[in-house]
Amino acid sequence: MSVRSLDTGLAAAMDRALGLEARHLFPTYLRSALRVVGGSGCRLYDDAGREYLDMLGGIAVNALGHAHPRIVAALREAAADDRLLLHCSNLYHHPYQGPLAARLAALFGLPRVFFCNSGSEAVEAALKLARARARRVKRLAAGDVPGIIALDGSFHGRTALALSSTGQEKYRAPFDPLVPGVTFIAPDDPEALRRAAGPRTAAVILEPVQGEGGVRPLAPEVLQAARAACDATGALLIADEVQCGLGRTGAWSACRQAGVVPDLVTLAKPLAAGLPLAAILAREEVAQAFAPGMHGTTFGGGPLQCRIALKVIEILERPGFLERVREVGSYFRRQLESLKDELPIFAKVRGDGLILAAELAVPGTSV
Ligand code: PLP
Repeated sequence: MSVRSLDTGLAAAMDRALGLEARHLFPTYLRSALRVVGGSGCRLYDDAGREYLDMLGGIAVNALGHAHPRIVAALREAAADDRLLLHCSNLYHHPYQGPLAARLAALFGLPRVFFCNSGSEAVEAALKLARARARRVKRLAAGDVPGIIALDGSFHGRTALALSSTGQEKYRAPFDPLVPGVTFIAPDDPEALRRAAGPRTAAVILEPVQGEGGVRPLAPEVLQAARAACDATGALLIADEVQCGLGRTGAWSACRQAGVVPDLVTLAKPLAAGLPLAAILAREEVAQAFAPGMHGTTFGGGPLQCRIALKVIEILERPGFLERVREVGSYFRRQLESLKDELPIFAKVRGDGLILAAELAVPGTSV
């Protein structure tokens, strides 16, 4: 029974659902009291018909807003097919992965694509690939640990390698000991980054704009130092653009926007407008480090997700779209700056395009 169809009993259905959640769900989230039943554009609706301005955007997933007419039309078109292929596994071909990979390859300048389901999985795959490549290319001995350089304040996800490379103690500590070989560097210290790289370094991973860590764009010198350190040691530069890529800064790739070309890019959140889809993009030689059978996924790159992602890309590619992101981003920035001048609650405004933050000058709730 769909919650939406229970027009009169919507609130009662939500009451029951919340009771069941309290009894049966893992206690992993401190959810807000908001009881969401629908959305349209930048608005959310609760079970009492109240309207909210959605300031969360599904944690960077709903980049096109809710119920975007072109996405809804694409879903309707798919659903109207009485032979709708929701899944067929990665052991068969379907019509949408190839075209989507080709679009992403052209837009990011990296020819090989691997699809998976989430940001963590994309980072996990990128780091596995970098370690496997380092073992082969750098001829590491059996006991040698391939090194990963990551930045303090970063967030790369919750799976083993992604978590091990996340530069926030609060996420890592409960699961220690994690994967060895990760060195953390201050995000504003290009010299330290250069010093940390060596012959066993497999990869430097960074978010060009740190998202979860507080919306902190990296200085161009840090990105350049990372590129130089990778060039000097034969390591791979991984740009984790799960949160800041795909138009969020007003460019397809935040790393390239800063003038630095990575070897690998990870993408996820807005890629399929809310359906789970993620990707890693790599240089040809790098992608060859995964031989058949070395890595895989059951669900990744499914036909519906890829079909919707092609529509997302088509929307982002419309003339003027990314310019508009920059325009609206500058508008928000100006407004936040003027609020900061008026009210003593903001210490600093930072970010790029539509990934923006106003740092509080007063205590906030920690999560
Ligand atoms: N990388 C970055 C930069 C992220 O912001 C996130 C999630 O916030 C992840 C990886 C992990 O993505 P997911 O939650 O889809 O596993």
